Parts: sequence; C-alpha cells; structure tokens
Amino acid sequence: MSMDLGNQKWVYAFAEGDGSNKQLLGGKGANLCEMTQIGLNVPPGFVITTDACLHYLESGSKSVPEDMMSQVREHMALVEQETGKGFGNPENPLLVSVRSGSAMSMPGMMDTILNLGLNTETLRGEIRQTGDARFGYDAYRRFIQLFGKVAMGVPDEVFDAEFDAVKQAAHVKEDVGLSADDLKEISERFLRVFQEHTGRPFPEDPFEQLEIAIKAVFGSWMGKRAIDYRTQFKITPNMANGTAVNICTMVFGNRGDSSATGVAFTRNPGTGEDKLYGEYLVNAQGEDVVAGIRTPKPIHQLAVEMPEMARQLDELRDKLEAHYKEVQDFEFTIERGVLYCLQTRNGKMNAVGMVRTSVEMVKSGLISKEQALLRIDPLYLEQMLYPRLSPDFKGEPMAQGLPASPGAASGYVVFDADRAEIQGNDMGRPVILVREETKPEDIHGFFAAQGILTSRGGKTSHAAVVARGMGKPCVAGAEGIHVDVQRREAHVGSHVIREGDMITIDGSSGNVYLGEVPMVEPEFTEELNKLLQWADDVAYLRVMANADTPSDAARALKFGARGIGLCRTERMFNAVERLPVVIEMIVADDEAQRQVALDKLLPMQRADFRGLFETMAPYPVTIRLLDPPIHEFLPTERQLLNDIEQLKHLRDSARGMEVLAGSLMLLDGSMAGLAEDAVKQIVSPDMVEAAIGKKEQMLRKVRVLTEVNPMLGHRGVRLGITFPEIYRMQIRAILEAEAECVAKGLEVHPQMMVPQVCTAAELRWIKRYVDEIRADVEASTGQTLTCRFGTMIEVVRACMRAERLADEADFFSFGTNDLTQAVFSFSREDAENKFLPMYNQIDILHDNPFEVLDTKGVGKLMELAVQWGRQAKPDLSVGICGEHGGHPSSIEFCHKAKLNYVSCSGPRVPVARLAAAHAALKAR
Ligand code: PEP
Ligand code: MG
Repeated sequence: MSMDLGNQKWVYAFAEGDGSNKQLLGGKGANLCEMTQIGLNVPPGFVITTDACLHYLESGSKSVPEDMMSQVREHMALVEQETGKGFGNPENPLLVSVRSGSAMSMPGMMDTILNLGLNTETLRGEIRQTGDARFGYDAYRRFIQLFGKVAMGVPDEVFDAEFDAVKQAAHVKEDVGLSADDLKEISERFLRVFQEHTGRPFPEDPFEQLEIAIKAVFGSWMGKRAIDYRTQFKITPNMANGTAVNICTMVFGNRGDSSATGVAFTRNPGTGEDKLYGEYLVNAQGEDVVAGIRTPKPIHQLAVEMPEMARQLDELRDKLEAHYKEVQDFEFTIERGVLYCLQTRNGKMNAVGMVRTSVEMVKSGLISKEQALLRIDPLYLEQMLYPRLSPDFKGEPMAQGLPASPGAASGYVVFDADRAEIQGNDMGRPVILVREETKPEDIHGFFAAQGILTSRGGKTSHAAVVARGMGKPCVAGAEGIHVDVQRREAHVGSHVIREGDMITIDGSSGNVYLGEVPMVEPEFTEELNKLLQWADDVAYLRVMANADTPSDAARALKFGARGIGLCRTERMFNAVERLPVVIEMIVADDEAQRQVALDKLLPMQRADFRGLFETMAPYPVTIRLLDPPIHEFLPTERQLLNDIEQLKHLRDSARGMEVLAGSLMLLDGSMAGLAEDAVKQIVSPDMVEAAIGKKEQMLRKVRVLTEVNPMLGHRGVRLGITFPEIYRMQIRAILEAEAECVAKGLEVHPQMMVPQVCTAAELRWIKRYVDEIRADVEASTGQTLTCRFGTMIEVVRACMRAERLADEADFFSFGTNDLTQAVFSFSREDAENKFLPMYNQIDILHDNPFEVLDTKGVGKLMELAVQWGRQAKPDLSVGICGEHGGHPSSIEFCHKAKLNYVSCSGPRVPVARLAAAHAALKAR
C-alpha cells in the first residue's frame, strides 16, 4: 500500500466526504455523507477511512496512524460547534455512536456502540440537562454493556445476569418498569463486572473511550466471523478492503412521548406496493425495534399518533427515492419532535417486489427503463417462475440433499416409475418419485410425478438433468435417505417412509419435509411481462429454449422463448412405447432387421418434429441428430445377467408346473383338465425360453457395444456415419415434417444440427445424406424445403477447424457442457463429486466451470471459433445451447463474443432475457 503518511487525510466530516467513495468511506459512511449533502437531517458526525484501518492492521504494534487522533479531535470540535454540545463536557455533554462499515455490507464485523462519551461526570450533566435521571442511567448502563461487549469482549451473559438480578429484586417484568434507582444500581454493577473481566476500570476519558472503540472496529475486520463471511461470499480486497468507522452524534428516541424510533422501507419489499412500509416504537432506542423487546407498531399508525412527524416521514421517503432512485431501507429517530434519518441503504426485496417497483418507478418517471432493468439481478427472477414454499412456513426438514432443480412440490411417495404412472397419471394423484438414482427407463415416472427425490447422485445426475429439462423440482443425493425398493419403504434415521406417505421437496434449497407444506404459486405477472418486453427491446442476443417435446416448447413460449435452440432427440427415444422399438433397432443383427425397427420409428419422429414446428411457428426449431452412445438405451450387463438367471429359475419352475399338471390328472380325473389349463396359463416354458433368448441377444449386444470411455467413444456423428440408417431416418423425419407443415401453409424454420463433430469431412458426409433425402422428399411432396444445416461445436478440434466447418454449416451451436469437459479434460460427474468443491473453496477455480462459463479458457476458444467461422462465412449464425446459455455472466460473455443467440431450459428463459438486456446495456 502506498500512502503518504505525512499529511494523509484520515477523517472526513459527513458534510465533505465523497458519497460515491465507498471503498474509502465504507457503504454506511459514504451514505451518511451523501444524505447530509442532499439536505436530509442527519445528526452531525464524521467518518474515519478504511485506509486508517489498513494502516492499523498492517502496523505490527496495532497503533492508529500518528495524526489520526488529532484529526478526530479536530472533527469532534466541528461537531461540538454544530451541536452546541461538548464531548466530555459535564454541562452539556455530546454523546456519539460508533459504527463499523466497509464497502460491502458484511455481518460479522463490530456492532454498534451507543452513548459513547458518558462517564460519571457527563452522566450527571446529561441528567441535569434532560431532567430525567431514569433516561440518564438507562443510557449509561446501555453504553457500559455495549462498550464492554463490543470493544472489550465482555460476554453479554454476565451483564444480563446482573440485570436480571436487579429486575427480580425490584419485582418488575418489563424493562420499562425499572426505576431510575434500579438503573443506577445496574450501572454500578455493570462497572464492577467490567473491571472484573477486563482487569481495568471503565475508562472515564471520552477520547480514550473513543480510541479504544475505533481500534476495536478496525480489529473486527480481521475477526473470524468477518473473515469467514468474506471467504464464503468471495469478497476480495478489490470489493472491500478494511472497514471505516462512523462517529455520529447521538439522538434519542427514548426522550418521552414526543420521541420515537423506527425502520422503514420506502415501498413494500414483499409486494412492491408504493406505500411506506415499516415499524416504530414511541419512547424507545433504535435497538429496541430490532431486538424485539417490545412489539413495534405498523408505520401507518404514526399518522394517528404524530401526524406532523408522519408528514415529514413521507417527505423524507420521497427525498430518499428521488435521490437514490431506488427503494430505500432506512432508520429514523424522532427526538422530541425532530425527525432524523440515521441510515439508509438499498432495500432488499423479493423478486415480485423488485419487478413491480421497477415497472412503477418507470411509470412515475423516477427511473428510466434501462435503470429498471439493471436494478434486478436476472437470477432473482427464478423465484417468480416456480412454486415455492410459503415464506411463513418454519418447519424442520427431515432430510437434505442437493438443490438439483428449482421449485417445490408435495406428493405421495412412490418408489418406481410404473407406480408413479399408475398413481400420477391414471389416478390423478400428486406423486413424488423417490429412487436411489434414476435411469433413462424411469422417464415415464418423471412425466407422471410432481417432483423427483434421489438418495444418490449430484447436480448432474440423470434425475437432476432430466428434471431441470422438464422444469420439475428435484432434490438429488439426499444421502440421509435409504431407499428399499423391495419393501417399498425408505428410512431416514429411525423414521420409516412408506409408499403413499405425503412428503414435500424443495428443489431450490435441497430440503425434504414430511407432510404437505403450504406453497406460493409462481407469478408470471403482467409487470414481469412488461419488464421482459423492455428487456427484449434492448437485447441483441435472441433467447431460445432447450425443449424436447411440444409441451416443453409450449411452456418455453410462455416464458418468452423465440425458438428452440436444442431438441435432444434421444429424449424422444426414451418414451415408454418407443423404448422397445429403439432396443429392437439396436439389437438388430443386420441392416435389414434394423430397417424394420427404423421404419416404425420414422412416423413417430416425424410426428414429434411436426408437433415442435407447429408449436413454435414461425420461430426456428433446432433438432440435434442422435448424440449419446446407443448402449445407453439398453440395460446394463449386470442387470441382464441377473434377469437371465431369474428367468432360468422360472423356466425350471415352469417345467415343474407341467409335471404338476400331469400329476393332477393322475390324482383326480374330473379336476384334471381345469387344473392343467390353469397351471399352463400361469407361465409357459416356451414363453420363458423366448424371453431368455431375447435377453441373451441383448447381452451379446451390450458386450459388443461396451466401451471403456463411452463419452469419448462411439457417439454423435461417429454413430451417424457408422450406422447411417439411424441418422437417415431422423433426417427424413425432419424434412418430411417440414414438408407437412409447409403444405398446411405454416411458416416454419427447421434447423438440424450434428453433434460431436471434429472435422469438416464428417459434416460433408452427413450433408450428403441430407442433400439426397431432401431431393427425394422435395420430389415426392412437391414442396421446397428450407431446413438449415448446422453443427454443434463441443470438441476442441471443432474450434480449431471452425473456418472449414463454416464452409459446410449454416450455423454453429456451442455445446459448452461437452466443450468445458474437453477443455479442462475433466469428466463432469467425477469433477463435481470429487475435487471441484475443494477447488472452488480454496479458489484454485473461482467458480464451477460447468455452471459459470470459463471465459478465459473455454471462452477464448469460442471467440476464436466465432472469428474463424465468420472469416469463412460472414453471416454465420452462432449460438450456445450448453447449460451456460441460461447463466447471466456467461450470457454477458456471449454478447461480447458476438453470438447471435443463447438457448437454455424453458424456465431459465426469463432469466436469460433479462441477462441479455443487461449485457447489451452494460456494453453501451
Ligand atoms: C453440450 O454439450 O453443451 C450440449 C448441449 O450437449 P449435451 O449436454 O446434450 O451433451
Ligand atoms: Mg454435448
């Protein structure tokens, strides 16, 4: 740190400090300066800078800068002049408050000390001045306790014990019942406690008190709680370095019935309503309101009790908003009919409140549309888009997992997908699918369930990814829950959850509750619509959605998506009635057999695509050709071996049954015919034999398809080239669906894209299928087809060869999920489950690169790919469809990198729309 210590200014009067310099004066200090300078009635005072704090911390001897205390004295003299009181003057004592305050609001630093400047002399003066001994001793005992606790570390409990002892002896229940003598006695006891605990008498000299307090504030910057807080919230020295100290003249809300103290928001932070919102207490000190010692009154009551003060408070509210152009959360005190503003800061509101106030503040001309957009953190909007637990609910969770997909849901527990379907779809009951972990074959259970709970797996487990895609709540990896599917129960500690029990999951927090918890429904309000329209007007990036079904697409449309940027066709293969056909296609021993299965799939896919095109018309719909390795659609080897073994047992039993049937005939001729039929109906050995044959065929196929590292193996375009008939079927389905839409007069803009491409030759190869099939479909339908052809960019080589790929592609879509894995050479599942949390914690990596785009590495490659791609094709359209497409800071990067669109899950669309607007506004 370079400082000229000779004539450094360490202290600023509220009237002179630069209100915009939060780094130097702290947030609170800067605000006090600003409020003073715009003419609000702030009690006089001054700020000691964060530089002084850093100096103190860096000097080994824990000394304040040499001339700091003399500057403090000079400023105290100015305050004395202004107030007409004297610091330490027994005739007319000046008392001050001492508060910490860094550039960022940060719990964990030193609390406030009030009434500093009191000693045996000034106390007498204060009592004489006010004519109120009770008030004087009350102020004194508060000061001794606060100073003792905050500046010298004397625990509250020892003071409280003394306090309670006097209260008991005086037979009073409420603090207000204590007399002046009681409070005097308490003060004396407190002084003794102080001496016992600190080994020194309570300091009498006000400047000594002040210096100790200032040092304590400085030291609290390095207190454990403050350090932990900074670590937790990643607050770097650039954001806040050291704390300032605010010294402010005391004003008293406890000087009788014309005094009061309160806290208020300039508008309702819960609903956004344009009305003062807050509480106050007559004849009380500030901390009484916060501490809940007495029940405060609602602020509108002030108009009845003190009409003139209520009018001034309204005026103050208008002034605050007019100046800060933001809803303010402020503290005020009324001392014998004079209103003071002690503190203000931007009000923390929920999303509903933020959105409503944004729209209304624009309407009333207080802020511009741009300001209205920028004041809302895009991620905040998620709150409004999912059902959530009622804020009034205070229950304890029975288990906790990872918040894997936001939103909350209640439902009856079911332990497998088939039951979910029966209970959920057929019986219309709300169900929560509870599994150890989920697999693709559970997909029908997802459709039927309100939410999904797993006891294993992370935020990228199958359950998490699929639930997010569907916008259903999911809690994953709740390890405290042990699922026993066989018995249809789950154990949480000693508690047993049975099928049919009602539970509630909160996918936004990861909490799981027993029973039904009251919910607040999502509110896509008129105001939110309006705000997002403003966002669309200024955004450059187009926001599209990742959606796999027409109903996903319809939902995404409601969220304001302007197209589909990614349809993962493999999700369509997972539907219950299709999986057997897909398996038939995979296990086929030759091309002809495979074609039979594909011929069944073709009309299904065509209908899928037509549904998507119709729903989204006239917006673009981007279909990705099959991506995952095909063994993913088959059971595992272990499962098959298990099934085969069980079937073999069954075969033996079935043979035994046949013997039984024969034996029955011998026993009783008249019963024999009936019994034989019944036994044969139970199970036929031929049927079991056939099932074994089928499973063994699958097992052979699974073994053939087994790969050491499937994600880097036979998947994506590689699959499309080696099994051309699969891609050809999909391409035909897309083009025929387009032809059908065009024939109906619909304006559709289909796009198809190829996953996992690493060389232009692969694209050319697939493009040949497209050209050939397009010619065929155009000839047979007589329609002209416009479907565009593009590529995913999700491997490093694709970035390096972007120029050549652009020769073949109409558009690029960055698949940053895979690209991130490829650039880091991390497998996501392993990284997130093993070392990434620690990497984030010790800041080797600041963020999880699978959530927040790594702009320095992955982003660099993206920029190169955009640049080189557009060198070959200047009008190349480029977008992103990895999960980062819904993340605000990643969206900002995409804007800067000149992408044309982002695509994200449906419920993220509003977040992305606002983030796209932020990106555009910040770039102006
Ligand atoms: C990607 O890799 O970013 C992508 C969108 O594809 P998937 O997540 O389906 O692998
Ligand atoms: Mg991918």
